[in-house]
Amino acid sequence: MLSADPVRYYLSRNKKVIEASLRVNTIVRGSLKKFLDLKNFIEINPVIISPISDPLNHPVKDPVIDYYGNPYRLTKSMIFHKQLAMIYFERIYSFSPNIRIEPLERRVTGRHLAEFTQLDLEVRNARREDVMDLAEDMINKVVEDVGEHVEPEFLNPKLAKFKKPFRKIKFLDAKEEYGDDFESALSNEAKEPFWIIDIPLDSREFYDKETAAGSGILRDMDLVYPYGYGEAVSGGEREYEYERICERIRKKGQNESEFSILLEASKIGLKPSAGFGIGIERLVRFIRGLSDITDTTLFPKTIGDLVL
Ligand code: AMP
Ligand code: MG
Repeated sequence: MLSADPVRYYLSRNKKVIEASLRVNTIVRGSLKKFLDLKNFIEINPVIISPISDPLNHPVKDPVIDYYGNPYRLTKSMIFHKQLAMIYFERIYSFSPNIRIEPLERRVTGRHLAEFTQLDLEVRNARREDVMDLAEDMINKVVEDVGEHVEPEFLNPKLAKFKKPFRKIKFLDAKEEYGDDFESALSNEAKEPFWIIDIPLDSREFYDKETAAGSGILRDMDLVYPYGYGEAVSGGEREYEYERICERIRKKGQNESEFSILLEASKIGLKPSAGFGIGIERLVRFIRGLSDITDTTLFPKTIGDLVL
């Protein structure tokens, strides 16, 4: 348990560790930005509050702000704004601050914060495989750039340029072989990042596209870091048609009225797209070889603590 005294906790931070992480963080963000800019992505500014945000698939409290008498939510991800951005642009990204009041049991995972940044991107008319290929190149570019600019003592000694294409494992196959906690088991034994694909509907939010209507299997994926670092990326193709979105919301037992903005836009015409989000602090954690995500940032919002 960390101190409940935010100032004392702040003053006890390890300058050397944080400074190295912040240097890596700067290079990682610059590298990601340059990589996407060269591929003609448009950067959109992050949205912090909005009448609509990601419902997520796990219980997260939803703080609501009184916005001129209207309930606005803090961004948990920019998924719906990404889909709306596809109306104007073909390729977009945003360094998006997310607030997630995660369940208390996540305080000890070493990879959850209540406030983190997600590089969230989306590509119109793309297939899942297109953005998986993009993610693989992106990770390898970041590894190359940090290798050029950061002294090895501050980097994960296991860091290497990873062989493409990364291995793909179907969610249900992984679960059958390794049980419910297959992600940790596979991550612990892996020496290269790998994909979990075809994640079923009940393990995901309503907006990832089903392979075929009623199949229950989605055109989605997670990227998992090796050496036990766990999940890096979640993404997939998206449902964009009004009827399909309604059906998926109903199947999830969610309320259509909560997503009326998305539904209204889908009636007028959302575009088919695929995309993903990669957590920046988790990427820095992996690149630094740190066990605790708290050490990646100066003002970590550790789960359940009073911090600045
Ligand atoms: P999600 O779509 O919920 O999987 O979030 C996208 C990515 O953001 C994940 O793959 C992680 O890299 C990162 N992420 C999600 N939740 C957290 C959290 N509580 N703390 C830090 N990073 C997170
Ligand atoms: Mg995820």
